[in-house]
Amino acid sequence: MVDWENTYASRVQASRENRKRYEEEGEVGKMKAVVYTRVSTDEQTKNLSLELQRRECQAYCQRNGFAVDRIFEERGESAKTTARPEFQAMLEYCANNRGKIGAVVVYHTNRFARDARDHLNVTFTLGGSGIRLHSVQERLEDTPAGRFIQTMLAGANQLDNEQRADRCKAGMRAAVEKGRWPFPAPLGFRNARNDRSEATLVHDPKHAPLIEEAFRLYATGLHSKQDVLNKVTRMGLTTAEADKLTLHDFSKMLRRPIYAGWIVVEKWGLRVRGNFEPIVSQELFDRVQLVADDRRPNRPKRHVRDRADLPLRGALRCGSCGHTMTGYFATGRLGGKFGYYGCHNKRCGNRVTVPKGKVEETFQRHLLEWQPTPGVMRMVSHVVTQRWNSRQDIARSSTEHHTTAIREIEGKLTRLENAFIYERAIDRERYDQHRADLEQQLTVARVALSDAQTEDLDLEGALRMASKVLTNAATVYTKMAPGNRRKFLGVLNPCGWEVERSGAIRTPTNAFVYRCLSAENMRSGDKWYARRDLNPQPSVPKTDALSS
Ligand SMILES: [Zn+2]
Repeated sequence: MVDWENTYASRVQASRENRKRYEEEGEVGKMKAVVYTRVSTDEQTKNLSLELQRRECQAYCQRNGFAVDRIFEERGESAKTTARPEFQAMLEYCANNRGKIGAVVVYHTNRFARDARDHLNVTFTLGGSGIRLHSVQERLEDTPAGRFIQTMLAGANQLDNEQRADRCKAGMRAAVEKGRWPFPAPLGFRNARNDRSEATLVHDPKHAPLIEEAFRLYATGLHSKQDVLNKVTRMGLTTAEADKLTLHDFSKMLRRPIYAGWIVVEKWGLRVRGNFEPIVSQELFDRVQLVADDRRPNRPKRHVRDRADLPLRGALRCGSCGHTMTGYFATGRLGGKFGYYGCHNKRCGNRVTVPKGKVEETFQRHLLEWQPTPGVMRMVSHVVTQRWNSRQDIARSSTEHHTTAIREIEGKLTRLENAFIYERAIDRERYDQHRADLEQQLTVARVALSDAQTEDLDLEGALRMASKVLTNAATVYTKMAPGNRRKFLGVLNPCGWEVERSGAIRTPTNAFVYRCLSAENMRSGDKWYARRDLNPQPSVPKTDALSS
């Protein structure tokens, strides 16, 4: 581009003198090129003689600073045959001199290949050896043929890159299989190397405690994601770029098994224990998944859910897939209406559908059978009170501990300020560094303190109330306004009751109330015997509950 016309003039002169040398031995320091010329019998009349093609190609090489390494000439006599021995020889020569030859120069691309497929094959082969095709007649980058060829070359390059990427991916995969994390660290972690200099993750001291706090808050089930996000944002949780975390990203964060120490790469089908310290325990992580599942938006809409004539809508789950069941009415052939509860999951392999009347009756019975007798309830209250008290003891001592720690850090901060402002004992940089460090410790300690302080609760009152409601659960449920039933069931068992095909209801194992009861009464292995031992007379007669 720069001054190639001057170059051209001087090169033309030089070419006349040096042509022979170029042809025979090439030239040191220049890119080597091979020239390929071809002629067919009828074309010799069109002034496309081999001589012309060769001259033009050589001139082109000089203009572009190529040293002509070798010339391959396809004689006209063999044009009708498909063998083209010189062409094959040229390809072979290029392959044998891989890395030494940089260009193949032709007069016109139609000299070069006979059809697109041919073209494609050859350009791929050449491109793979790092050889570019040059055409004297066409400036390849500007013509359709040139663009075509370049596309092909790009394709070849792409292929090469993808193969390289595959090898890289294989390396990452091998790392993951060994529990290493070869990707950029997720929020709350930092990339690091362990003592065997393998890739690993360490906790980011600023964000890791806040992320743990977020999991803990959300696991209580008392706060929405947005509330939790607002709280930890106020406490200083940000993205790696120091932006506010969006609700979307925050929701995704709560779902990432990496925080419980698992490396999961779905597209590789890998789930591996990581070689690093988790930020939250498995139990906490699982609890968060339960709470998040429970609030999945796949539930029927609220106004539908609260329909009084389908009180169990949203409280029942499919016994085969666990999905929330919906309730609906179907019109029979004679115009009668029939209610059903059914699995709402299209992908469920064995969708449970049960008639409304039957399952509602079974459910009433289930509540009645399950509701604790006053005797059992007294025992539960006793155990809960004991646990509460011992937890209070732990909370009190850890509150003291954290309060002391906070006071100490605050003291250090004051001394640091004195040293900097009044005594001028340290410089600005060290002051800032220590200060940031201490403030970070302070945040961690305050989080721990707020965690240790349990809310003030009138435990006795709450237990009295719970006892009254629980020992009469079936009656309370039947007598309450239909619109409130769903809420009541949500308190009893937020995870819902699973229904089998037969219409039978499984005893929930993870609802808090059920757990309290079963833990204390299931020792004999049979709930009902244990309960009859404690209180042989049911507190509410069966007939009462069903008829009221
Ligand atoms: Zn199902």
